[in-house]
Amino acid sequence: MTEFSDVLVETLGAIDFDPLALKEKYLFERDKRVRTDANEQYIEVTGDFSSYVDDPYQQAPEREPVFDHVDVAIIGGGFGGLLMGGRLSEAGFNDVRVIEKGGDFGGTWYWNRYPGAMCDVESYCYLPMLEELDYIPKHKYSFAPEIMEHSKNIARHYNLYEKALLSTGVTAVTWDDAHDHWIIETDKGDRFTARAVAMANGPLNRPKLPAIEGINDYQGHTFHTSRWDYDYTGGSNAGSLDGLKDKRVGIIGTGATAVQCVPHLGASAKELFVFQRTPSSIDVRNNRETPQEFVDSLEPGWQYRRMENFNKLVTGAEQDEDLVNDGWTDIFRNLTGIAAKTAAKKLGRRLTPQERAELMEMSDYRKMETIRTRAQEIVDDPKIAESLKPYYRQFCKRPCFHDEYLPTFNRPNVHLVDTEGKGIEQFTETGLIANGEHYELDCIIFATGFEVGTSYTRRSGYDVVGRDGQKLSDKWENGLRTVHGLQTEGFPNAFFMGFTQGAITVNVPQTLNEQAVHVAYILDKVRDADGSVIEATVEGEQAWVDEMDAKARMGAKFRAECTPGYYNNEGVAENPNGFFSASYGAGPVKFFEILNDWREAGDLEGCDVR
Ligand code: NDP
Repeated sequence: MTEFSDVLVETLGAIDFDPLALKEKYLFERDKRVRTDANEQYIEVTGDFSSYVDDPYQQAPEREPVFDHVDVAIIGGGFGGLLMGGRLSEAGFNDVRVIEKGGDFGGTWYWNRYPGAMCDVESYCYLPMLEELDYIPKHKYSFAPEIMEHSKNIARHYNLYEKALLSTGVTAVTWDDAHDHWIIETDKGDRFTARAVAMANGPLNRPKLPAIEGINDYQGHTFHTSRWDYDYTGGSNAGSLDGLKDKRVGIIGTGATAVQCVPHLGASAKELFVFQRTPSSIDVRNNRETPQEFVDSLEPGWQYRRMENFNKLVTGAEQDEDLVNDGWTDIFRNLTGIAAKTAAKKLGRRLTPQERAELMEMSDYRKMETIRTRAQEIVDDPKIAESLKPYYRQFCKRPCFHDEYLPTFNRPNVHLVDTEGKGIEQFTETGLIANGEHYELDCIIFATGFEVGTSYTRRSGYDVVGRDGQKLSDKWENGLRTVHGLQTEGFPNAFFMGFTQGAITVNVPQTLNEQAVHVAYILDKVRDADGSVIEATVEGEQAWVDEMDAKARMGAKFRAECTPGYYNNEGVAENPNGFFSASYGAGPVKFFEILNDWREAGDLEGCDVR
């Protein structure tokens, strides 16, 4: 035993698994799933498939098109657009228009109404602007209807309904050089102008379907989870899907969405077939009502402090206390720098890079062993339990947390169809084929996720034409180029929110908030300088692209060894639009610090004002 092995055992406890065998098993499972078609395995929901993105919740009201001018246009009425509208309003910008495809505010929470939908980051951190609205969520993890209601309340609070265009999709955004403003066109015939435009389209907003033979042949009922058809299933977010009591239902996919809706489908359908390609990691949820003592203990500024505490813990920084104390912080406590710091303290020196990597790998095996043991303990049939065990490292796929998903497989009417990485093979008129067997189904639900890694303009559904007629789709064809992920040269007064060279956080609304605060600051500074136009400079953009490149290699080897999924471009090494390629490698804590320092410097470095 080396000095380090002793510390390893001391830090992690006795190891009751064979790490080499596990590594081999992980690579074996990965190799079964690697495919060269990556994103091409999915169909874009256009043409024959465009009905999959129709709004099933409400009819777009008839209205006259608008041809006016606003100061700022915000594309997207989800959390990004709401935060942007709110922060702009606080900075005194009131001539603001939100354009939103959905029939109301809420974004992902407008669309994703499937039974069981809930946030899986603690609601006290996740729901934006709780203190501003003086609201405390009812549960530690809120259910979708409450989150949507909160979204509407934010819009009311900041008067965003007044000028909003709902049920409206933007079709073109074009810079008018002669007048220094944007022209925004929509699918409702609107053509209005705006001095500035903020794009808050959302990172996972475009549903995708598997490009499998015969998908058009199936004659039964189908829908995607992000457009749940309650007219067919009956029931609500709380379940009781009475329309399914005499139905044989199939659900394709076992990601974070399926994990939340499968328990309700299992409870309601006559027969449920869950078609699994790769199992998710299902950790403890432990949801609970918000205790009154917690509410009474909150002091002004509590939400920001809580978000900061959570964000720091989930990026590996040490904190005196863990305010959220849930599955996320538990994972990160063990799988990030926090574990390395504990080991270094015991060792009395810093870990070598190799020791650090070994510690992380061993902690990961250990954590995933607890996840696999959980499946084994909960699921009665050992064969089904084995199928539900994930054999990959924790962050190869998005961790899931649920207490009812695994027990659902003990129901006699619920059948797991484990395709062992192959997926479904073919659709027929009456069902589908998997593992060579035909399954007759009344209804097929696609829980197959959302486009990630396709181009920004394909996902947003419109192109942006900047100064001198330059198209954003051309400019970003070989990868994003921005200042801080927010602005790009050639596109004056345009701001991009979300994952466009910013930092990815577990608690996404925190990033959106930082971005909104930053854009409100920029527009305020431009106003103070008696200017009306701000644009990223070539040098400013290059400096951020260089910083992105310098930090980009972090995690690349890790992801290359992962089972395919949207975190690693479906197993394809290079994709300039990939989920992590477009994110700042040094992480959110550093990223927020950079934005904050930039604001404090006050000189709008990397941008020109005119
Ligand atoms: P995912 O992309 O995570 O999952 C898609 C699923 O479809 C995977 O299980 C995939 O398998 C499977 N699949 C794809 N093609 C086939 C095929 N041909 N045959 C069989 N299975 C197939 O989408 P989700 O909608 O589940 O989640 C997307 C993201 O949305 C999450 O990662 C999370 O970020 C977010 N989300 C957040 C929630 C919250 O609470 N805040 C709740 C739900 C979602 P494979 O793994 O093999 O690719």
